[in-house]
Amino acid sequence: MLARAPVQTDLVLLGAGHAHAEVLRQAAMHPQPGVRLTLIAREADTPYSGMLPGLIRGEYAHAEAHLDCARLAVAAGARLVLDEATRLDLSSRAIGFRERPDIGYDVLSIDVGGQPAAGTGGTPVKPIGRFLARLDVLEARIGKGARIAVIGGGASGVELAIALAVRLARRARILLISAKSAPLAGTPMRVRRAAAQALSSAGIEVYHNVRATHFVDGQLHLTDGTVVAVEEALWATGVHGPGFLAQSGLVCDAAGCVRVAATLQSISHPGVFAAGDCASVDGAPRPKAGVWAVRAGAPLAENLRRAAAGRSLLPWRPQRNALAILGLGGGRAVAWRGELAVAGRLVARWKSRIDRRWMAMYQALRPMPMDPDEARCGGCGGKIGPDALRAALAGLAPAPRGDIPVGLAAADDAAVAIPPPGMAVVQSVDHFRAFVDDPYVFGRIAAAHALSDLHAMGATPWTALAIATVPFMRGRKMQDDLTAMMRGANEILAADGCALVGGHSGEGMEAALGFAVTGLADPAAIWRKSGLRSGDTLILTKPLGTGLVLAAQMRGEARAVWLQAAITSMSRSNAAAVAIMRVHGVTACTDVTGFGLGGHLGEMLRASGLAASIDVAGLPALPGAREIAAAGIESSLAPANRAALDVPQGMDLSLLADPQTSGGLLAGVPDGAACLAALRAAGVDAAVVGHVTPGIPGQLHNR
Ligand SMILES: Cc1cc2nc3c(=O)[nH]c(=O)nc-3n(C[C@H](O)[C@H](O)[C@H](O)COP(=O)(O)OP(=O)(O)OC[C@H]3O[C@@H](n4cnc5c(N)ncnc54)[C@H](O)[C@@H]3O)c2cc1C
Repeated sequence: MLARAPVQTDLVLLGAGHAHAEVLRQAAMHPQPGVRLTLIAREADTPYSGMLPGLIRGEYAHAEAHLDCARLAVAAGARLVLDEATRLDLSSRAIGFRERPDIGYDVLSIDVGGQPAAGTGGTPVKPIGRFLARLDVLEARIGKGARIAVIGGGASGVELAIALAVRLARRARILLISAKSAPLAGTPMRVRRAAAQALSSAGIEVYHNVRATHFVDGQLHLTDGTVVAVEEALWATGVHGPGFLAQSGLVCDAAGCVRVAATLQSISHPGVFAAGDCASVDGAPRPKAGVWAVRAGAPLAENLRRAAAGRSLLPWRPQRNALAILGLGGGRAVAWRGELAVAGRLVARWKSRIDRRWMAMYQALRPMPMDPDEARCGGCGGKIGPDALRAALAGLAPAPRGDIPVGLAAADDAAVAIPPPGMAVVQSVDHFRAFVDDPYVFGRIAAAHALSDLHAMGATPWTALAIATVPFMRGRKMQDDLTAMMRGANEILAADGCALVGGHSGEGMEAALGFAVTGLADPAAIWRKSGLRSGDTLILTKPLGTGLVLAAQMRGEARAVWLQAAITSMSRSNAAAVAIMRVHGVTACTDVTGFGLGGHLGEMLRASGLAASIDVAGLPALPGAREIAAAGIESSLAPANRAALDVPQGMDLSLLADPQTSGGLLAGVPDGAACLAALRAAGVDAAVVGHVTPGIPGQLHNR
């Protein structure tokens, strides 16, 4: 069984905005088992709004004012996808991008911020990352006396204008275009006065009661007919939601922001949540400011956790007012809450402390302390050390063979094998994680299972490449496990004349082993699934029930003798059966694995255009298999296998739908009795399971 909880819910955070920073912090502190968290962010780092003006003024370094998405994601155990979402498909619950494939979700939370309602031309101040890059270019370009217009008399426009005046000092003159009679309309008189004074002492020219419409060829056009020559126009106008939100069908407000209930859940789509500038809370709309996105973080985190667990949601009851602090430059700031306002140097220091404290909370996030042994590398760094690998492979090298000039005996970057003239090369690959604890036994079963595909084609095994994974363990343990696994596998391969010519090994969460196998066959004598003839006897070369026994074993319900019999059967190669069945004129063949006898027989019948009658009561079963089925225990794949069968109602499918590991060969032969007798005489645990009949292709009947 897997040590980690299986993923039951995909919770996707779209946008690394302020509210999502808190969701990630909560996830880092309280991981939710069964929930896979994914963070999708357009930029690798995300700016903290409170520090933006300080960043523009040059008071903060980039790293001080940004949160690193990779660090947040690692701390929260979230997958990080760095790309810009451009589409939302609500019916298939998927997020779309320009190039990469869609990402599905069960629960989606959107915190992508907003965009200024910009006119034509110029530069919108959002996304901030792009704006800051454009600002650097602008700064390098402008000469002394340049004029730059900031459009928007709200808090961000005023702060930006002052910050630019500080940054560009005497090199540029800043113009502020305000649609109202004064900037910061709606704030207390004291705030407006402090702002007007700061704008004036920064030398900023303010245009009142007028809107900008477009910026073309260095000319900014205003609604009163004025045309102002400026080097650049920066739009810091009212925020609207990114277009793809409303286009998706999510119910949005007039500004294209997702309408959410007090729970932050979309009013139209219960699986979708939104917070920050891109959301509009029904009945409690709040200004588009970072402070409200921050406040929404904790209730959003709680409700996402509840939604993922299928629990009822809690309403967010935001305060009526939040403390707002606006930098005035010159080391001063003005703060207000409701009608109360205060300005001065102390306020600026206070703001700086609040901002730094907020950032520190997220910048200090680290993954839970990990045992150094748990922080193991992937990629080539996840390979097993060369000594362990060499030791594990020592003794496996087969005797040199003329047809394999480069194999394990004389290892190189790749193996080289020369097929005999006229022979077809038959290839297959199989891989699975360990389901038995003994690595030696697991190695034997994995090899027998992989070779079975070649046997089912009537091919003779020739070469095998191994891909082995062992969990990290201290000291010699990894080497010992790998040695045992490869020894078991090589015994089965060698017995079938198959040369292990190379492979790859690595560390992983759990042991796993697979093989790419190659066989040789006369092209005219290859067995296919499609050659069955009406009247053929269907012979199976191993009893059924490995899925049932392994399912019981995982629940602690299997008896040791049942497990032992299943292991013996799974470790047995199907090679012995091949030669005998060939003599008896096989018409079609396959090996029975994951889809069970019913599923694989159905494939053969559909390919041959025929049906079959099955002796359900007489199907060969491993010891314990029928008792386990009667107790209601079955493999996790059995329901899907059952659903895929074309059978009459009431037919007992417990063995027919049981997935097999290293199962037997299923073949059609014209003379079943003679073939069965020969197989049994050779020690093969074979049985007749039914007959091929005319009928609806793929259909199974009980005899
Ligand atoms: C110059 C300026 C100064 C400001 N100063 C202040 C201030 O001092 N105080 C204050 O409270 N507010 C201030 N604001 C407002 C503040 O920036 C916003 O209100 C705040 O950033 C909104 O936060 P948010 O979480 O909604 O989104 P954002 O902070 O905008 O974050 C959105 C995130 O989503 C990502 N994203 C966006 N679109 C996509 C997409 N399609 N796919 C993937 N990822 C995407 C972005 O990369 C970003 O990481 C200022 C704004 C400006 C322009």
